[in-house]
Amino acid sequence: MKLTILGSAAAEAWPALFCECAACAEARRRGGRNIRRRTAYWINRDTLVDFGPDICSQSLQFGIDLAEIRQIFVTHSHQDHFAPVELFWRRKGFSVVTRPLTLYANPKSYERLRAEGSGFFPAFFKDIRLLEDLKVHEEVMLPGRTVNAGSLKVTALAASHGDAQEQAMNYVIEEDGKAALIGNDTGWWADPTWEQVRQFKLDVVLLDCTYVHRAPEERRGHLGALATVAVRDRLAELGVLKPGAQVIVNHFSHNGLTLHEELCEFFRPHGMAVGYDGMVIEA
Ligand SMILES: [Zn+2]
Ligand SMILES: [Zn+2]
Ligand SMILES: [Zn+2]
Repeated sequence: MKLTILGSAAAEAWPALFCECAACAEARRRGGRNIRRRTAYWINRDTLVDFGPDICSQSLQFGIDLAEIRQIFVTHSHQDHFAPVELFWRRKGFSVVTRPLTLYANPKSYERLRAEGSGFFPAFFKDIRLLEDLKVHEEVMLPGRTVNAGSLKVTALAASHGDAQEQAMNYVIEEDGKAALIGNDTGWWADPTWEQVRQFKLDVVLLDCTYVHRAPEERRGHLGALATVAVRDRLAELGVLKPGAQVIVNHFSHNGLTLHEELCEFFRPHGMAVGYDGMVIEA
């Protein structure tokens, strides 16, 4: 399995669009791995995890032919992870699209897709069959569900993120005896998720590190640096990590105030890597 990090920032991107903070100024000055778009991943050639507002620039920079994408797994409906409008360009009249796409997403994401569709196509919405016209096949994904999608087997875990109706998900993606966990956005998992993850042997683990300096016991919604180390340790304790498993932190907010180089310094002694846009992970 080949996994490419397409984006490594939290919601505002980094530099954040209008931000005057020192961390954004320093990211602009240093450039390179400090320039972070909204978090998303590309698996092999035909699968995306999340589809956010930066998908146009990500596809151009990393050489993704979006016509080859057969399936998108959306983690949750938040704007940094799901930009329905970018799917609307699939409609006849905007683009020539012959190949269908399966969208695995929770009910909240589908709610957003339909609401934004009715705003986008107002005049003729009564005549439009939105998903059919977009050649999007609907698959409602919920925590606990496992699907076979092409060569991948994908299991949704319940993330601890967003309001009760959100049903945000983390995904375990398996192929050819290898397994990768996409573990943002989440705080510390609830017990049933810890129980559920025990069935896996992971080669790759991507963890949420939104607020770097958050106290380790503050684990609601997102994690800080010390909490990500605690998650890794707990996974190891449960026997879920294969020997030599790659553990990578990702999804950084500029409000965490810590640049890529300093993040690497912090995580190196813990044997953990720091994600960046364009990072390729082979499992
Ligand atoms: Zn996010
Ligand atoms: Zn900033
Ligand atoms: Zn979120």
